[in-house]
Amino acid sequence: MSNQIFKVECPCGYVMANQNLDILITEVQTHAKDNHQMELSREDVEDMVYA
Ligand SMILES: [Zn+2]
Repeated sequence: MSNQIFKVECPCGYVMANQNLDILITEVQTHAKDNHQMELSREDVEDMVYA
């Protein structure tokens, strides 16, 4: 049983994790917009993902 979890650590220190990459990307985009007024593309977020 392998449950891969994708993680993104925002430069502000906030860490988001999800098994579903699409959900994680949306979560990160929402966080960046709400907290940093940043519009991140899917590619921007993918570059920040580590597993
Ligand atoms: Zn942040």
